[in-house]
Amino acid sequence: MTGEQSEPGTLEEVRERYRREREKRLRSDGLFQFQELTGAFEDLDRDPFAEELVRDPVVDEVDVVIIGAGFAGMLTAAHLQQAGVHSFRMIDKAGDFGGTWYWNRYPGCMCDVESYTYLPLLEETGYMPTEKYASAPEIFAYCQLVGRHFDLYPHALFQTEVDTADWDEDLGRWVVVTDRGDRITGRFVVCAGGILSKAKLPGIPGIENFAGTAFHTSRWDYSYTGGGPTEPMDRLADKRVGIIGTGATAVQVVPQLARAAKEVYVFQRTPSAVGVRNNGPTDEAWFRSLQPGWQQQRIRNFTQAVTGKKPGNVLVDDGWVDVMWEDTQSRTDDPEEAARLEQSDFETMEAIRHRVDQVVEDPETAAKLKPWYGKHCKRVCFHDDYLPAFNRPNVHLVDTDGRGVDSVTPTGVVVDGTEYPVDLLVFASGFEVTTDLERRLGFDPRGRDGVPMSERWHDGAHTLHGVLANGFPNLLMISIVQAGFGTNFLHFLSEAATHVSWIISRCLQEGIRTIEASEEAEDEWHGILLRVAGQIADYSRNCTPGYYNSEQGNNPHGYRNLTYTGSLEDYVGYLERWRAEGDFPGAVVTR
Ligand code: NDP
Repeated sequence: MTGEQSEPGTLEEVRERYRREREKRLRSDGLFQFQELTGAFEDLDRDPFAEELVRDPVVDEVDVVIIGAGFAGMLTAAHLQQAGVHSFRMIDKAGDFGGTWYWNRYPGCMCDVESYTYLPLLEETGYMPTEKYASAPEIFAYCQLVGRHFDLYPHALFQTEVDTADWDEDLGRWVVVTDRGDRITGRFVVCAGGILSKAKLPGIPGIENFAGTAFHTSRWDYSYTGGGPTEPMDRLADKRVGIIGTGATAVQVVPQLARAAKEVYVFQRTPSAVGVRNNGPTDEAWFRSLQPGWQQQRIRNFTQAVTGKKPGNVLVDDGWVDVMWEDTQSRTDDPEEAARLEQSDFETMEAIRHRVDQVVEDPETAAKLKPWYGKHCKRVCFHDDYLPAFNRPNVHLVDTDGRGVDSVTPTGVVVDGTEYPVDLLVFASGFEVTTDLERRLGFDPRGRDGVPMSERWHDGAHTLHGVLANGFPNLLMISIVQAGFGTNFLHFLSEAATHVSWIISRCLQEGIRTIEASEEAEDEWHGILLRVAGQIADYSRNCTPGYYNSEQGNNPHGYRNLTYTGSLEDYVGYLERWRAEGDFPGAVVTR
C-alpha cells in the first residue's frame, strides 16, 4: 500500500513505471469484476427523486417509439418534430427528461465539457448557460426546457420500463410492452438508452454485508446526507464517509464530502489525471455577439481540437484542448515521429503529475495521487478543488496500490489488513459502457422470426454504423457500441440523433416499410472498426485498464462490442456520406 516512493526521471524509467502500474491493475476477470444493481442490490437502483406515479396503462399506435428520454432520445424527438413527424412516444425509467442529468444529482456534479459546446440546441432554444462549465441542476433544468420548447412532454411516459419489444412481421410494427401494462406499437423503435446509464458496483467480497448506509453516486440519497444539489449537506458533520472510486465522478464529489463530513476515506485503485478547470460566469456580451451557426461550428471545432485535427482557429480555450491537442495514440511508421509523440505524451502527463506536487502538501499523499499512464488511457478530469481536498485533516487517501479494496465488512472497508470504519459508503464505481446492448437496455428486443438480440448477437454486436442491424427491421440504435465516441458525448449524441431522425423521416416520406442493415454492410463496417482500432492498438495495450479499453480483457464480445476509435469527426463523416448517397447504401429496404 505504500506505492512507489522514488520517481522516474528518464523516458525509459517512466515507460517502465507505466508498465509496472499497469501490471498491478491487470485482472483476469476484466469486465466480470463488476456486478449489477440487481438481486441483493436492487434497492440501490431505486429512484430517490421520483414522486409516486399512478396511471392507467396506455394503448397506442404511433410512428416511432423512442426508448430513453435523455439527450439522445430528446434530440431524436426534437428533430422528428422539426421534420414534421409528430406521432411518437418516449419511454423512460426516470421521472423526467434528462437521462444522466436526471440521475446524477450528487453534490458537486457538473459538466466537464464547456457548456457552449456540450448543451445542445442553444441557438434553437435561445438559452445562455450561466457558466463556462454548467452545474448539474442547470443542465437538468435545461433538459426540461428542451422538453417544453419542443413540446415533448405530452409524448413522454416516465417511470416506465420496457419489458418487451417484439417485431411483428404481419403488422410491420414493433410491439412494445412496459412494466405498467402499456402496449405501444410503432413502425420504428429508437433505442436511446444512454451511454453511461447502467450503474455498476465493484464485486468486492462482503460488499453485500455492509450494514451502514450505502448508495451509488447516481442515486444520491439527500435524505441521509442532508442538503441538496445546491445546498450544503448538513447531516454529515458527525459521520465517517467512505467513497470507493476516484474517477471523474469522485473527483467532483470528494471536495463536497470534505466540506461536510467528519472524516472522509477515499479508496483509490488508480489515480485520475486532474488538470485545471478554471470555471467562470458566461460573458454575456460575448455570448450575445455570436453569429447564427456558431454552435455547430464551435462543437466541430472543439472535437477537432481534442482529436489532434488542429483547426486553424481554436475556439475553445480550456484544459481539454491543452491536454488533447495532439493525437499521441495513433500508430505512425516513422520511428522519429513515434518517439516525438511519446515524448509529447509524457510531457503532458508530467505537467499533470507536477501539479499534484504543487497542490498537495503531504509528499507521500502527493506521490500516491499521481497518474502513471498515457493521456489517452482514461478520461482526463479537470477540477480545482479535488487535489486541495487532500490537504484537509479530515480527508484520508487510502491507496490500494492498484489492487482495489480487499473486502467490505458490516462496519467498514478493509485495505491491506486495516479496517476503516464508515457510516456511509458511496460507490463512485461508474457505469457499464461496452457490455451487451440488451443488458444495458434492460430488455432483449426480438427481431424477425422472434429471434432475440442476445441470440442474434451471441458473439457481440453486428451493425452498420452502430445504428441499423440485420434481423431487426426499423430498429435504430444510439449507443457507442460500433459507433462514435469522443470527449464531448453530446457531439456524438447530436450527430446520432440527426442520423436516426433522418432515416425515419425519409422512410416515412418515401413509404418505405422496413429498413435494416445487410449482413455484408455489417461485415464491412466491422472491418472498418477493426482497422481503425488497429491504429491505436499498441498504445491501448500499454494502458492501465478502465472502461476505455473494456478493462483490458476478459470481454468475450470485445471483438465486436468496440467503438469507432478514430476521431469522432471521421465517424460523423461516414454518416454524412451515407446520407448524401440518398439510397441507403448497405441497407435492405422493403416497400
Ligand atoms: P469511472 O468508471 O471513471 O470510475 C470508477 C472508479 O471506481 C475508478 O476510479 C475505479 O478504479 C474505481 N473502482 C472500481 N472498482 C474498484 C475496486 N474494486 N476498488 C477500488 N476502486 C474501484 O466512473 P465515473 O462515474 O467516475 O465516471 C464515468 C464517466 O462518466 C466519466 O469517464 C465521464 O465520461 C462521465 N462523467 C462525466 C462528467 C461530466 O462532467 N461530464 C462527470 C462525471 C462523470 P480504476 O480506475 O482502477 O478502474
